[in-house]
Amino acid sequence: MKDIFFEDKVTPVKGLIRRYHARVLVELTMKCPIDCEFCFRKWKKEENRETLTKNEADKIVEYISKNKEITEVIFSGGEPLMAVGLMEYLIKKLKVLDQIKIFRIHSRAVVTAPLLVSEKFLKILKGKYKQIIYLSIHINSDKELNSEVELAIEKIRKTGVILYSQSVFLKGINDSVEVLEELFSRLIEIGVRPYNIYQCNKIEGIEHFIVPLKKEREIITELRKRISGLACPTLIFDVPENANKIPVSLDFWEDKKTIIDFNGKKFLIDE
Ligand code: SF4
Repeated sequence: MKDIFFEDKVTPVKGLIRRYHARVLVELTMKCPIDCEFCFRKWKKEENRETLTKNEADKIVEYISKNKEITEVIFSGGEPLMAVGLMEYLIKKLKVLDQIKIFRIHSRAVVTAPLLVSEKFLKILKGKYKQIIYLSIHINSDKELNSEVELAIEKIRKTGVILYSQSVFLKGINDSVEVLEELFSRLIEIGVRPYNIYQCNKIEGIEHFIVPLKKEREIITELRKRISGLACPTLIFDVPENANKIPVSLDFWEDKKTIIDFNGKKFLIDE
């Protein structure tokens, strides 16, 4: 199955995914500077490489303003840094809505194409808004950190935006305590708070990247013992069907085989 999280079912208007009560994700564009082999939206990107039009963006604003319980907007994609003009357009329209409290930007390009951290983008981050902007960097290995990436991170940090990271466990790339210790320790040193690390989604064609959950738990358990709590991300299991993000209990707890999603449905986990 391609759309394992049934994103179409939770897309009330083009480009907007609403899975939760108070937050929505806006897919500004389906373009990316590189195509990550493990991408779970790969199928979507194969069907559509478009950027939303202003007309479509206006419909998103209309939807959000009619649903006052929405307080948080996440700009994603694809790669939101490939659609900075549209991001600026949407922020200008949404920042005046009293209901909106937080903007989030989910970017992998800070790591894969740091030149996209342009003056134009930094200017948007420096803008005067009543909302706080949080920027998540998708990074998976210490080998992805180099002087260009760290410079881009420093420029973002100086805008006052709050930085955090998200990672995906990938077999043969980062399924070791040493790699992740190196990565998360460095991130916290340069002002990026490691937030979540996910199990690679079980999508056709990328099975070779999947690390057994048991091993992931062992690695994060060991990291908890070794590094600062501030540097240690939460291990997250994405529930198939609805992508509820369930924190995985570490090996400090027994009985870890059943999870209960946000709606109370039980799933037996295959370790
Ligand atoms: S940058 Fe993000 S959306 Fe684009 S291919 Fe990589 S993981 Fe997928």
